[in-house]
Amino acid sequence: MALPLELAKAAGALARRHAMLCAEGILNPMAAACHVPCPRRFVLLDRDGTINVERCYLTDPADLVLLPRTAAGLRRLGELGLGLVVITNQSAVGRGLMDEGRLQLIHQRLQSMLAEEGVRLDGIYFCPHVPEASCTCRKPAPGLARRAAAEHGFDLPQCIVVGDKPCDLLLGRAIGAATILVRTGYGQQTEAAGRASSDAVADDLLHAANIIAGWLEVDTEARQVQ
Ligand SMILES: [Mg+2]
Ligand SMILES: [Zn+2]
Repeated sequence: MALPLELAKAAGALARRHAMLCAEGILNPMAAACHVPCPRRFVLLDRDGTINVERCYLTDPADLVLLPRTAAGLRRLGELGLGLVVITNQSAVGRGLMDEGRLQLIHQRLQSMLAEEGVRLDGIYFCPHVPEASCTCRKPAPGLARRAAAEHGFDLPQCIVVGDKPCDLLLGRAIGAATILVRTGYGQQTEAAGRASSDAVADDLLHAANIIAGWLEVDTEARQVQ
């Protein structure tokens, strides 16, 4: 169950304040008295064509199939200490092809398939609207990313957005995050069309995770130099 937005924002602000106090040495993040975790960096993942095989409007949980190196990629990201949030446009709901209950069943199956592979997602956020609704949550609009950031207390510009379509890359740009285009799903078409640029292009999610691992290493070295 999602937190009310105001409460989530307050929790996010508290988590950021806590991180500041940890950084200043006022709080010890390892101490038992510290209940609020420091903000982690998060990867915002597209679902269809990035995590699972692209189907034109996936409406049956039985049709959910993970892409070959998805589990390994997500495990790698988890091992790097990154938070994992899925942000997905599901206009099939708005089009009347399925109800939200069915979408929840699909997401429950996704989470249990990933759990069997040792992967835990921090959250799945979806837009149920049709494009014509001009809502604030359908990618590339940043509504869902903002909501996830408020609920989990992470910074949007510190995120890495991974997806196969221009809307994923444009979302990344909208929130000031780094972006990786994966060549799975519509990724090759997106790359060939050159309709949206990304910071990197990866063959699949495991390749993307390896690229991210390299970026984190560079960041750590840069901090040590300072
Ligand atoms: Mg996609
Ligand atoms: Zn929406």
